[in-house]
Amino acid sequence: ESVVHWFKRDLRLRDNKGLSLAAAKAKAGGVPLICVFLVSPQDYQAHLTSAPRVDFEIRTLEVLKGDLGRLDVPLVVETVEKRRRLPGRLLEMAERWGAKHVFCNVEYEVDELRREESLVKLGLEKGIAFEAVHDDVVVPPGALVTGTGKQYAVYSPWFRSWIKHVHAHAELLKVWEGPGKNPSDARTKFRTLFDSEMPEAPDNKKLEPEEKKKLERLWPAGEHEAIARLEKFLGEKVGKYSAMRNFPTANGTACVSVHHSVGTLASRTSVRMARDANNTKRLDAGNEGIRVWISEVAWRDFYKHVLANWPYVCMNKPFKYEYTNIEWEYNTEHFEAWCAGKTGYPIVDAAMRQLNSTGYMHNRCRMIVASFLAKDLLLDWRMGERYFMEHLIDGDFASNNGGWGFSASTGVDPQPYFRIFNPLLQSEKFDAEGDYIRKWVEELRNVEGKAIHDPYGRGAAGEAKKKGYPKQIVEHKFARERALTRYKAGIGRE
Ligand code: FAD
Repeated sequence: ESVVHWFKRDLRLRDNKGLSLAAAKAKAGGVPLICVFLVSPQDYQAHLTSAPRVDFEIRTLEVLKGDLGRLDVPLVVETVEKRRRLPGRLLEMAERWGAKHVFCNVEYEVDELRREESLVKLGLEKGIAFEAVHDDVVVPPGALVTGTGKQYAVYSPWFRSWIKHVHAHAELLKVWEGPGKNPSDARTKFRTLFDSEMPEAPDNKKLEPEEKKKLERLWPAGEHEAIARLEKFLGEKVGKYSAMRNFPTANGTACVSVHHSVGTLASRTSVRMARDANNTKRLDAGNEGIRVWISEVAWRDFYKHVLANWPYVCMNKPFKYEYTNIEWEYNTEHFEAWCAGKTGYPIVDAAMRQLNSTGYMHNRCRMIVASFLAKDLLLDWRMGERYFMEHLIDGDFASNNGGWGFSASTGVDPQPYFRIFNPLLQSEKFDAEGDYIRKWVEELRNVEGKAIHDPYGRGAAGEAKKKGYPKQIVEHKFARERALTRYKAGIGRE
């Protein structure tokens, strides 16, 4: 006999609700806990999971396997080629190990919810209780409603309600106890499970060795690393977060999104640790940096609530339905220039090159390049959304879809469509000295002063041309007018 925990995007022992419940059930029954992770190449395809992310996941599993092994708990990692076979395979394994209970944490995307539903049904047929619990969010979707009983579609009132709810439900920030040691006979009874090998990334998600080494250095994996990063940020930087968070070279943010997205760090843990670093022990008072940081982590919850409440955002539809009819350009050359960081707008190009090189992009720059794609290039925002998922190491459907909807003005609580970032002003404001641009755009490394923001327009044309830096692919003033006209016409054509 045994109890099974199915790991998905919750790759940690500490403060993991589903795992904690599974471990408690196993302990109460005096039976071993068995953990499993199923690699699903078709899910990687369907979700556009990036190669850096797959690599990060596998490296994280190695850490997890080591930690579980020290507790005599096996972690079985198996590849299931056909994703529709996944529920059946999971329950087959559970049956083979004599498990009457399988636990996991809920994922809120439509396909995943359907899969979980089928697992409950299949489990009932086989006499296995399948339990999926809320863990990925601080406040479960559905818990917050407006005065008229509706779900919130605007962040600020939602956030006030979120704070009130968390303050009123202390259990939401409780620490879930990690698993203890398995009974001493677990290793003999389930010996073969301890030998399960870590799979390689599927062929179409493999990194070149150099690339892999670089990403290993940049993004060390595992929950210990996640907590160390968070502790360092809370100890040294959070106080200045609200002043520094918008400047891409200030190194002023926590850089934990990849950990939130594979679940080496729970957002509950982040919020609790931030609150505890605040002398008021509240989420909405005391240190400004801490308050603002918590409100940013809450955006993650917000977008998961949106996804759970309005699942059609998962189906390639804009949250704002009336924005369905905007006539986009579909200019392939422009899209390719954007992807490669060759638009002639140095701040946009620096940001895209940071993404292509590291799997990460600073939040301010994500907003700049997203606005540039949707408004200046008038390209369908979904092309950008896809490209981000295919390249981000921290790709998360809800946050990415929310971020794109915000910037393209098609999403929930977005920028109004007539607010169009001027990429040159954004550049001057948030990268005033041009250090970010110089770091990522090699061609402009020798350009000094304000010319860095617009080399052809501000006196560095010779140097830019010599190094092969492209001219602007669209003119902002023209692009702005075009976007205003096209958005207005699209919305009017309801
Ligand atoms: P910090 O500023 O230290 O914030 C702490 C945590 O709060 C983050 O780790 C993240 O989990 C959460 N957070 C912060 N800002 C946001 C936000 N706007 N929306 C949701 N969560 C937030 N974030 C992702 O995790 N995955 C994505 O795929 C993703 N795609 C984005 C696409 C666009 C177009 C935009 C504008 C934003 C996107 N974001 C995404 C949000 C944000 O850019 C990143 O979470 C942030 O840059 C991560 O860096 P950090 O950990 O240093 O953040």
